[in-house]
Amino acid sequence: MTAKITSKLDATGRVSVPRTVRDSWEMGSAVRLEVLKNGDGLRLSRARQTTGDCYTLNSQNRLFVPAELREQAGWEADLILEWKVADDFVLIGRDLQVCEICYSDRALAPVRQTFLCADCLDEAGKNKLYAWEKPLDRLVSRFTEACSYASDGEMADLNEAREVGGELHAVLHFLGVPADHELLITLDKADRRLRKVIEPARMMEAFEAWQTKTGKKKRALVYEHLTRTAGKKQRKQSGKLGKLNRIVNEDFEESWHTFKVEELYNLFEACDVDTRRKAYELAVEEAEAEWNQARGAGEDHFQASLASAASLEQSVSELIAVCRYLEEAGEHSDGNDLDRLQDRQLELSRLCDIKTRLDEVDRRKEELDVKQKHIRGVKKEMLGEV
Ligand SMILES: [Zn+2]
Repeated sequence: MTAKITSKLDATGRVSVPRTVRDSWEMGSAVRLEVLKNGDGLRLSRARQTTGDCYTLNSQNRLFVPAELREQAGWEADLILEWKVADDFVLIGRDLQVCEICYSDRALAPVRQTFLCADCLDEAGKNKLYAWEKPLDRLVSRFTEACSYASDGEMADLNEAREVGGELHAVLHFLGVPADHELLITLDKADRRLRKVIEPARMMEAFEAWQTKTGKKKRALVYEHLTRTAGKKQRKQSGKLGKLNRIVNEDFEESWHTFKVEELYNLFEACDVDTRRKAYELAVEEAEAEWNQARGAGEDHFQASLASAASLEQSVSELIAVCRYLEEAGEHSDGNDLDRLQDRQLELSRLCDIKTRLDEVDRRKEELDVKQKHIRGVKKEMLGEV
């Protein structure tokens, strides 16, 4: 905010016109004066002719305000008056209630300790809609593009599709889109399809690494078996990736378009950013507390406590998506440290991967032709990563 421009009304009804006002507005020798609608100020505009209700600046750049106008505005001598310079007029007053943007004094609505006129509000609404829609549009195109590449089965594309899909899901949910909305249903379906390939691929990679890393022969056998079964699952699911293009298809783009035209504006209107963001922050805090509590139950329960880590990871990812979106939409940030949140999310997703692997060991226990102690050894070994 720029400093206020002020000057004092003297006892003779004269007020000196500050240099900044004279410099930014060619006032000329004659001005027209009119009292503002709410009575608490005057509007100075260029006089078309030098006769009638017009007033001139004297040689000391002082403007005489007639007693009648001073009375209407409720001005007395020694009053400090504020100046506001608009494109084709200047305002002077004690406590000017005018539109923050165009200085109009008509059709004002209070907005965060200031005022905006109906025209500027309308314009601001359109700008806001654009600012909020743009980052969503970008997410949708990144998602559809990543999905079209992902059907080839490249891990980088699969991960990108899943991450962006998750981000889009979180933001739509934040904006108040209900869970049974067709857009969210499609995002859920795509996520399940992607997860079915990504999870075994990640597992396979980790089991294979452990197979080389472990010094124990029997454990290596367990890892080998797990690597093989994960690989089989991954190949089978990769073969079904063609379905992704049937899930994220023209119908999806069509519903996105309809959604933008018919629903988005009302959602923006109803979205109280601060309250909703708080709810996301609270969800993270609660999940964090729950995880801390589960972890406190001792080492034996650690594997079970990893389930709370998964829900914490989910909450953190959602908060990151929301913060990132709001930042792109130009909303003031609420002090959430994105870098810190991202580090946290990375650490948690590593824990979630370990949980997936431990669960897989439990699921495949019966298939393994080794003594229980080797299976326990494998689990302990992987838990050692924590
Ligand atoms: Zn305005």
